[in-house]
Amino acid sequence: MVNEREIIDKLINGDIKLHEIEKYAENIDEALTIRRKFAEEISNTELKNISNYSINMELASKKNIENPIGVIQIPLGIAGPLKVNGDHANGKFYVPLATSEGALLASINRGFSVISASGGVTTKILDDKMTRAPVLKAKSVTDAIQIKSWINNNFQELKEAAETTTRHGKLIKIDPIMVIGKYIYPRFVFTTGDSMGMNMVTIATETALNLLNTKTGVHVVALSGNVCVDKKPSSLNFIEGRGKSITAELVVPKDIVKNKLKTTPESIVEVNTAKNLIGSAISGSMGFNAQYANMIGAIFLATGQDEAHIVEGSLGITTAMVEENGDLYFAVTLPDVPLATFGGGTSLETARECLEIMDCYGNGKVKKFAEIVAGTVLAGELSLMGALAAGHLARAHKDLGRA
Ligand code: NAP
Repeated sequence: MVNEREIIDKLINGDIKLHEIEKYAENIDEALTIRRKFAEEISNTELKNISNYSINMELASKKNIENPIGVIQIPLGIAGPLKVNGDHANGKFYVPLATSEGALLASINRGFSVISASGGVTTKILDDKMTRAPVLKAKSVTDAIQIKSWINNNFQELKEAAETTTRHGKLIKIDPIMVIGKYIYPRFVFTTGDSMGMNMVTIATETALNLLNTKTGVHVVALSGNVCVDKKPSSLNFIEGRGKSITAELVVPKDIVKNKLKTTPESIVEVNTAKNLIGSAISGSMGFNAQYANMIGAIFLATGQDEAHIVEGSLGITTAMVEENGDLYFAVTLPDVPLATFGGGTSLETARECLEIMDCYGNGKVKKFAEIVAGTVLAGELSLMGALAAGHLARAHKDLGRA
């Protein structure tokens, strides 16, 4: 047992740093308690909720968090059943969602009910990749063009070097390779198994760059040159895709639109055109949709995905049309959803439990998970579009979000 008071005083005086407490404490829980008491003292607050946790902080502190002081809690709910007719997910699923936004689960659940009444949502994976694009510096633009040629002509050698670092990561292409003055931006594109893959592709790309440096003398300015594009909304990811590129579609019979959504296919199509397409075009938005980030965010927080990737999952286009027989055709397309069922935050106990609710934890599960995510996004999107078309949005939020 260490002398807590002595360590807290040293922290306050700046004699030891926050990350050094582990050196003095007997175990991670003791270090965490001291760090939290320090935070309580300097802020004159009692952190009694942050201190309640059940996850294995020993493991978490090795790969998920530095300087831990506890956990935050976000309300977790479940919606379902979601009926999916996918290539990898087939059947009925209950989806865990973490949020503090009242009305979100109710809205998604309403979407699930429309999906069930319409026979199930069709889901597809359009593409699957993870990227890392360093920025390199040549001696001149002529040299940069030669290095670009070297990369193109020696792809196999670079691929073999990259893949020495990983069993699941496979380099599938280096494209595009942009030359801007003396700078070169080669985008390394991998498949990464069931992991989201950012650590995996960063390590693999670094190893390939060591080879490139030895062969061409090119200077690596930075391992990420922002053409990846990680954790920022971007046109490149929109067009090329990143993570899982997913889509979901549904034909809703017009009487179900009327009975369950209290509106018409024509009204939903008009709201989609005026809001998601024209409104987004006016504002320069990259999300031609109503609320993908709501569903993506709630699933990401529940299942231990990298929360900063919610920004990428917010990209995408909603399409709505009236079929010849008057039914509603409705689809969501998300080009950029980094997802994992292994690695990163997925092994945190609460995240793992949430993935297990959908039978989506671990090996061979990420494509199934991606299709469930696509179906959930469609449900939330359709429900909100229905509420807007019927003029019910403000009322639902008043009833459910302002208790
Ligand atoms: P990771 O947990 O670092 O790597 C996945 C690990 O799981 C690898 O060691 C892989 O082994 C192993 N593995 C076992 N079974 C697997 C399977 N079925 N499929 C895939 N891998 C399997 O996770 P990551 O996905 O590469 O990276 C995610 C983390 O990166 C997140 O915590 C995220 O926050 C963070 N991140 C990093 C950066 C960065 O620039 N480094 C940027 C953004 C986010 P093999 O490699 O031998 O196949």
